[in-house]
Amino acid sequence: MRLKEKVALVTGGSRGIGRAVALELAKEGADIGVNYAKNKAAADEIVSKIHLLGRNAIPIQADVGKITDIERMVEQIWEEFGRIDILVNNAGIAYIEPFFKVSEETWDRTLDVNLKGTFFTSQIVANKMIKKQIEGRIINVSATNGQVAEVDTVHYNASKGGMDMVTCSLAIELAPFGIRVNGIAPGIIKTEIDVDFFADSKFKEHYQQHIPMRRFGEVEEVGKTAVFLASDDSSYITGHTIVIDGGLLCEQVPKLQN
Ligand code: NAP
Repeated sequence: MRLKEKVALVTGGSRGIGRAVALELAKEGADIGVNYAKNKAAADEIVSKIHLLGRNAIPIQADVGKITDIERMVEQIWEEFGRIDILVNNAGIAYIEPFFKVSEETWDRTLDVNLKGTFFTSQIVANKMIKKQIEGRIINVSATNGQVAEVDTVHYNASKGGMDMVTCSLAIELAPFGIRVNGIAPGIIKTEIDVDFFADSKFKEHYQQHIPMRRFGEVEEVGKTAVFLASDDSSYITGHTIVIDGGLLCEQVPKLQN
């Protein structure tokens, strides 16, 4: 087991990618703080599953778009476990809205949860890691949208581009303390976040045909990458965002289909 005696906080750990990340980290020996926003039942379910693996876990309600919630979440996990070795900034939202329809509310909420949440959770946790001389790991779950724009999600693209730069910047700021900071940029992974985006099955098929591996990703594939970045297997990697997209970003103009 690569993460024995480590404690991880996974934001948005109750569903989708965060749930798989929490499970994979637990399988490697880590105890887990499972953060969620609204759906307590989902958080309780994954906490029970982690207990069955013989690891400790607690559900923690907090809206990462609010600094007071982040502070309370970090205090709660610190009280329970006395430390955080691994922070996974995974909680995120993606509203589909055409550029000319994007409201101030959509812009603010997207940037608050995805970017501000990542920044302040990292700041608060890193401060405590340094005080306790923990050579921690921070993993930011970004998206391919941080590197290549997608239509009808300008606000989301901007939040993820910002996250990638936070990853680079924090790698520099925290390297002197032995804290490594990396990102994961998924392409399309099968979770509920994409339900609206793929409401039209023809579009879904069209999208899939543009992925060189011709399939969407599984949440476990992201979870295993998080384990790699959290463990010493990635000991000389910091400041980078690993793309998990079946080759999507490699192709400039998709081949014309007959
Ligand atoms: P998901 O299935 O919709 O799950 C989102 C998780 O985040 C849930 O646990 C949810 O908790 C939590 N959450 C939402 N808003 C929150 C808030 N304000 N504070 C705390 N927790 C909050 O999403 P997903 O597909 O797993 O996405 C996870 C991350 O991967 C996101 O950052 C997303 O941008 C990124 N990503 C996903 C894909 C993809 O194709 N799935 C692709 C690229 C990047 P509740 O259920 O309690 O609300």
